[in-house]
Amino acid sequence: MTTSSVRQRFAGQVAIVTGAGAGIGRATATAFAREGALVYGIDIDRHAVERAAQAATCEQAKPEQTAVEQAMSATPGRFVAMIADVANPSDISTCVERVLTEAGRVDVLVNNAGINMGKRLVELEIGDWERVFDVNLRSVYLFCKATWPNFVSRHKGVIVNVSSVMGQVGGVGSPAYCSTKAAIIMLSRCLAKDGARDGIRVNSVCPGYIDTPIMERVLRETGDPVKARQAIVDKMPLGRMGAAEEVALGILFLASGDAEYISGTELTIDGAVTATQID
Ligand code: NAD
Repeated sequence: MTTSSVRQRFAGQVAIVTGAGAGIGRATATAFAREGALVYGIDIDRHAVERAAQAATCEQAKPEQTAVEQAMSATPGRFVAMIADVANPSDISTCVERVLTEAGRVDVLVNNAGINMGKRLVELEIGDWERVFDVNLRSVYLFCKATWPNFVSRHKGVIVNVSSVMGQVGGVGSPAYCSTKAAIIMLSRCLAKDGARDGIRVNSVCPGYIDTPIMERVLRETGDPVKARQAIVDKMPLGRMGAAEEVALGILFLASGDAEYISGTELTIDGAVTATQID
């Protein structure tokens, strides 16, 4: 795609994306940069996020493109890599302070970083429970709280939180994970109402089965990843898993002016897998 066909909905805006080193977060941060934003991509994995930032910045340098095509598809925004553990409250303060010092504001916050803990209740230790809650849920609360005053002072701000269909329908294999994802939906709704008069919109996205590194790990843990993958694909109404970029498109939509009247809701991106429980 060249810039002639790429929209620039976020030109001049500043975005924070957590978990930007891989999967959905990487695709989202890259897409924001492509559409003109200055993106601060945060990840615990230094190499992953630095690679992602470099790849986004060099997006135009595809050898098969002509010089004109390369110039036209240059990433107009910028992807700045930041290393942090979102489970650590002081890391979160440091990240937000740095963004506010360097960029002066935040327009969009995407709370995407998350881990799964595929343990049923009897195997689930208190440390597992706390880690999943700290990474998946407390980080959302803390990032929202840290960016909120800037949103309020400018009467403008958008938050998109990455939940999951597992927060809508649950699953016996990962009660901690599902609980955090359900809580993200409710937290987003509460903040949407809280922030509405201050010009702040808050929504969540609920991805289904998306083909990312986290999914690879889940499949490996079954002992037969090929069979496990086929079993998932067989139950997908659209006949395949989703791609990280397809979730990113939903996140960018909710963050954009196209969604000016959308707040306090969930966008399910799951290829219809949860559309019906009957058949
Ligand atoms: P992924 O594992 O491919 O990528 C997650 C990224 O987050 C990684 O780069 C990882 O290093 C980073 N991360 C993990 N813990 C972190 C921490 N403590 N601090 C900072 N960064 C951290 O995962 P994904 O599939 O892209 O998932 C992204 C989000 O989407 C997660 O919240 C996940 O729960 C959600 N989700 C994924 C799927 C799916 O099928 N892949 C489905 C529903 C929801």
